[in-house]
Amino acid sequence: MSSSLTGTGIGRGIAVGGVLRMPDPLPEPDDTASALTPDAEKERARASLAATAAIIRHRGERAGGSAKDVLEAQAFMAEDPTLIDDIGTRLDSGKTAERAVFEAFASFRDLLVSMGGYMGERATDLDDVSQRVVAHLRGVPAPGVPDPEHPFVLVARDLAPADTALLDLSKVLALVTSDGGPTSHTAILAREKSIVAVVGVTDALTLADGTEIVVDAATGTVTVAPSSEERTAAEAKAAEIKAARSSATGPGALADGTLVPLLANLGSADGAADALEKGAEGVGLFRTEFLFLDSSSAPTVEEQKAQYKRLLEAFAGKKVVVRALDAGADKPLSFLNDAPEENPALGLRGLRALRANEPILRDQLAALAAAEAETDADVWVMAPMVSTVEETRYFTALAREVGLKTAGVMVEVPSSALLADRILADADFASIGTNDLTQYTLAADRLLGSVASFQDPWHPAVLKLVGEVGKAGRATGKPVGICGEAAADPLLAVVLVGLGATTLSMSPSALADVRAELARFTLDEAQHFAELALSANSAVEARGAVTTAAASQ
Ligand code: PEP
Ligand code: MG
Repeated sequence: MSSSLTGTGIGRGIAVGGVLRMPDPLPEPDDTASALTPDAEKERARASLAATAAIIRHRGERAGGSAKDVLEAQAFMAEDPTLIDDIGTRLDSGKTAERAVFEAFASFRDLLVSMGGYMGERATDLDDVSQRVVAHLRGVPAPGVPDPEHPFVLVARDLAPADTALLDLSKVLALVTSDGGPTSHTAILAREKSIVAVVGVTDALTLADGTEIVVDAATGTVTVAPSSEERTAAEAKAAEIKAARSSATGPGALADGTLVPLLANLGSADGAADALEKGAEGVGLFRTEFLFLDSSSAPTVEEQKAQYKRLLEAFAGKKVVVRALDAGADKPLSFLNDAPEENPALGLRGLRALRANEPILRDQLAALAAAEAETDADVWVMAPMVSTVEETRYFTALAREVGLKTAGVMVEVPSSALLADRILADADFASIGTNDLTQYTLAADRLLGSVASFQDPWHPAVLKLVGEVGKAGRATGKPVGICGEAAADPLLAVVLVGLGATTLSMSPSALADVRAELARFTLDEAQHFAELALSANSAVEARGAVTTAAASQ
């Protein structure tokens, strides 16, 4: 008899496979005297250090690319002669190999941290190597993402960015986590890489290695030990999804033919070819600040023009929405705002920081106008974090003065959503940034893990604000785009269209799933889903109500 667990599904995929748990971090080895001689302990330490270096190197060779370099550097750490000497000295004083390795790595780690900068950042790598050597000495699985030769479903508490960097996507059939919500790092990764995932499954850690499970993201369920009928049904559904994904090409559209252009979110021209290949019909959000995150001084007009031209040339004949530099909070740009602030998300950020440095804003708009003049993309420009009608007027007037013909604003603050009709009287378009709009509507810092569960764009309060902008768009006949993470959630994307969004912009890897999902429903159905979501009391209820309604269509 199968049983099932539930959580929050990411996307609509389904996968069947055997569980492999991410081992828990190892406890600190006890500091008790060794029962062996120092020489015997030295031999144990030597063998485990050498084996760990060889295993890490082997992983690097299999991973290739930049992971190979990272892992090669880690292998060298396990062979570092200073460290090995330090371990030897500690063993001579009667410690166990486990304890000596732990202590020697920890003291080396503290040294690196005190050096700061690049060396300090290597401290985590050193911790990882230390844990691996200790695990080898104890004969238990190494911590971190398991790396077997066969495909598996990864079950973990949650995944850290360092874990996910080395995930071998050809082996990971699906992800199931006990923690994390729809905007956790795991969820973002799953969406970005189109991995089947269900997060926030409270009892996930009770799943034993090797147990067969069906992971169904559309319903947010994990079926444990499925019957052969359940397995066959899941495999058929997976094949159907794969077929729908590959057949859903061409412009984004609902089942009744209503066009919903699907655009890409990009942070540099480097992603342009990939976005086009995945069917992006243009760019809905070009995050220009990503080009200059490392700069300590403002970029020159020429430097910017070259960057913008590269992107516009790649999207010749298509729409490209460029966002003016969005500095502050999660995206610090020291040349725009270097002042320490108690609440940076509520501080001098976005358009406010640009306005306080108007020459930088003018330079950026001029660079963009110059790039536009030399290419034939359809350039739209927008300001981030606009919270008043007056700011809208300021930005659109300046952009037009510089010669840019289509100027709009991002709606990321509730005040702008509530006055969207007045904002759209001036702006040529609005683009809703649901990441920030959710943060400000629920008053929960989007970077703070302790309030991550509030960061859910399915929340009816967020959707109500999106609906206000949609209504204003219809009344004024102006386009309303969505460019936050919400647009990459296939079912939520349908709801957003039901609320009045006319375009959706997302990371390119989400395009296929969103395109396939839009094609399943008519505008009437999308509007019905929107009403269901709006009348819910919580994000969970809204998602649940729409998921159930969509499954019965
Ligand atoms: C948003 O806030 O939704 C958005 C698209 O902008 P960013 O994530 O870059 O702040
Ligand atoms: Mg934003």
